Amino acid sequence: MPTPPVDQCSAPDLMPVEQAIDTLLSSVEPLSAIESCSVFQAQGRIVAETVSSAINVPLANNSAMDGYALKAADLKQSSSLLLVGSSFAGRPFDGQLQAGQCIRIMTGGVLPAGADAVVMQENCTANGDTIEFLQAPRSGENVRYAGEDIRLGQAVLAQGHKLSAVDIGMLCSIGISQVNVYRRLKVALFSTGDELKPPGTALRPGEIYDSNRPTLHCLLDKMGVEVIDLGVIADHKDQLRDAFLHCDQQADALITSGGVSVGEADYTKEILQQLGKIGFWKLAMKPGKPFAFGYLPNSYFFGLPGNPVSALVTFYQLVVPTLQKIAGMTPLARTRLPAIASEELRKRPGRSDFQRGHYWVAANGQIQVRGTGKQGSGILSSIAQANCFILLEQQRGDVLAGENVVIEPYDELLR
Ligand code: AMP
Ligand code: MG
Repeated sequence: MPTPPVDQCSAPDLMPVEQAIDTLLSSVEPLSAIESCSVFQAQGRIVAETVSSAINVPLANNSAMDGYALKAADLKQSSSLLLVGSSFAGRPFDGQLQAGQCIRIMTGGVLPAGADAVVMQENCTANGDTIEFLQAPRSGENVRYAGEDIRLGQAVLAQGHKLSAVDIGMLCSIGISQVNVYRRLKVALFSTGDELKPPGTALRPGEIYDSNRPTLHCLLDKMGVEVIDLGVIADHKDQLRDAFLHCDQQADALITSGGVSVGEADYTKEILQQLGKIGFWKLAMKPGKPFAFGYLPNSYFFGLPGNPVSALVTFYQLVVPTLQKIAGMTPLARTRLPAIASEELRKRPGRSDFQRGHYWVAANGQIQVRGTGKQGSGILSSIAQANCFILLEQQRGDVLAGENVVIEPYDELLR
C-alpha cells in the first residue's frame, strides 16, 4: 500500500497536543485568594475548601406519606389502634407512643418515639378515635430516616468543585448560607491585526471583521471569568508593548489572538522576551499549529493563532483546562464517545485533527458522525454547524465511511 501523503505543516519537532496540555497544567498554580460568598450569589463559583454537613438531613425520622404512625408489632395483636394525637410537618407530636396507640401524621411530620412505621391513609378507616387498619405494615414502612440523604459530618462538596444550581440547594439543605470560594479569575483579552475592524462598520479592501474577540469574550463570560477587553491592537510595537504592560497590571492572565504565526510573530516575541518568559510552540494539532504560552511579571500569557477556527480550538482544548486550574477548579474531563463515520473524512498523517462534526444516534443505537463541510482554519461556519469535534489521531490518514472514530460532543461552553 502506498504511504499516504504527509501533512505539509507537520514536522518532527511539533509538540503533541497531550504533551502541550500536560505542560500547561503543570506550569500554572491556582489562585490563592479566597472570599466568602452568599450561596445566592455562588452559582458558577469554585469552592475553596471541602464542605461538610453539620447536621443530618433529614434531621429526624419522618413520614414519607400522609397516614398514621404506629408500632408495626402492635398490629399483630389487633387490627385497630387508638388515635392519640398528630404530627404535621413543622409541628411534631410531643410524647411517646404507647402500646395500642397511633397518631395522625403528614408527609414530613416527625415520627414520634415508639413508632416505627407509617400506614398510608388510603389503607385505614377512621371511626372516631379508633383507626382500623386494612393491612399490617413492615417495621420501617414509609419512614424516611435521619441522615439518609446526608449524614452529619459527611463531605458534600470537594475543594475545586464548580457550584451548580443543585449544589446551591444542597448547601441550603445543610443550613449553609455563606461559602468560601476562590476569587474570580481576571482575564485580559485583545485581538492583534491592522486588518481587523469592528462589526457595524464598512470594510475597505483587505480588511476583515474581528470575530475572535467577541467569541472569546463570550466564552470567558460563560466560564465565570471577569473579562478586561482591550479591543483590537494594531500591529505596532509600542502599542502592543503598552497593551501587554497594562494587561499584566490588571489581570491574572492575558489572551491574545493573531500575530503568532511566522513573520508577524516577531513583535509579540520580541516584546514578550523583554517583559517576561515566553515559549512559542508549534503544536502537532490541526487546526492550531502556532501557539504561545509564557509568563509575564504578574500574569500568564496565552497567544492564540489568528485564524478563527484555530483560535477557538486551541482556546477550547488548551486554554480552558489551564484557566480552570488557575481559577482553583479541578479541570473536568470532557466526554469522548466512539462513533462511526457516516462518510469519508480527509486527513493527512502528522498532526492530531480536531475536525468539526455533527453526530446523531442512528436507529440501531449507534452514534454516527459526519463532517460539517470545509475544514479550513478560517471556516468559522464549520464550528457553528457542528455539535462535536471528531478527534483523529496524529498518525491517521483518510477515514473511510464506516470506520470507527472518537468524538467529543460540545460541552455546555460551546452550546
Ligand atoms: P495571524 O495569526 O495574525 O497571522 O492571522 C491569521 C489569519 O487570521 C489572518 O487571515 C487574519 O486576518 C485572521 N485573523 C486574525 N485575527 C482575527 C480576528 N480577531 N478575527 C478574525 N480573523 C482574524
Ligand atoms: Mg495578524
